[in-house]
Amino acid sequence: MTTVAFIGLGNMGGPMAVNLLKAGKTVKVFDLVPEAMNQLAEQGALTASSACGAAAGADVVVTMLPAGQHVRSLYIGDSGNKGLIDVVADDTLLIDCSTIDADSAKTVAAAAATRNIEFIDAPVSGGTAGAAAGTLTFICGGTDSAYAKAQPILADMGANIFHAGGPGAGQVAKICNNMLLSVLMVATSESLQMGIDHGLDPKVLSEIMQVSSGGNWTLNKYNPCPNVMDNVPSSNDYQGGFMVDLMVKDLGLSQEAALQSHSSTPMGALARSLYVNHARQGNGKRDFSSIFEQFNKKG
Ligand code: NAD
Repeated sequence: MTTVAFIGLGNMGGPMAVNLLKAGKTVKVFDLVPEAMNQLAEQGALTASSACGAAAGADVVVTMLPAGQHVRSLYIGDSGNKGLIDVVADDTLLIDCSTIDADSAKTVAAAAATRNIEFIDAPVSGGTAGAAAGTLTFICGGTDSAYAKAQPILADMGANIFHAGGPGAGQVAKICNNMLLSVLMVATSESLQMGIDHGLDPKVLSEIMQVSSGGNWTLNKYNPCPNVMDNVPSSNDYQGGFMVDLMVKDLGLSQEAALQSHSSTPMGALARSLYVNHARQGNGKRDFSSIFEQFNKKG
């Protein structure tokens, strides 16, 4: 039976690891937060006392961590501490599903290659609901052989799997997507609020726009206006979901990528500025759809 080490059991990693258990994998987990590990243990996962302890002897390692520095130090090691690449078996496949900068993904892939170990960047889209339902989209960067080996594991957690290109390409595609998502969320929020300000019911307005030319994912799956949709963060005081701090991180990555390639991204730059401002007002740990409050609060 395939043994998967799963490291990083937050809003996304927790439900993704549960889906691997449901698919019959032996799952050995580690997170810095003991409570996160306990929740997985209740569902049948084995727990480890360190990331290296979880990864040693595993067939596949999956990581779901906040940012590039976490991924680099975990895989490569730092301050004299060993990294996962130092302890895994020769034929272990490494899959990082975090959203990080493409350069970090390339650095880790190159470090793994010095041991002939395959590493693939496989950031995801679909949010916490997609993670729980096992319908995530995986956007992969890596060699053809790493991609082929990763597919069956990713299929246990997702519905769509794409190969964007070589190492780091998955991360580039992912930040293009999240830059677009942030712009759509801001634009949906301001449009809904303008309708409300003119006396419209946000539920009716949402239904109209969903099937009109303004229809988009935030209206269909993640309405930012409270109580328009059940089971989304806006109807739960913006708890859970995708934190503003993580969106700020992704928009920083997209702006760095735009600088590298001399690309013009004015909407992404504006969305980053709006989200940074929102985080500075104490909203960093809330879901990113809470940007709606920037438009509906009375001055
Ligand atoms: P989260 O903060 O809820 O979870 C991150 C987890 O990693 C935490 O439980 C934390 O304790 C753990 N962690 C951090 N450093 C660690 C280490 N060294 N060893 C072990 N565990 C460690 O974040 P999340 O929402 O699950 O997001 C994870 C990644 O997925 C991010 O890169 C994010 O941008 C991306 N992402 C999130 C969403 C979403 O909707 N939340 C959607 C797509 C992609």
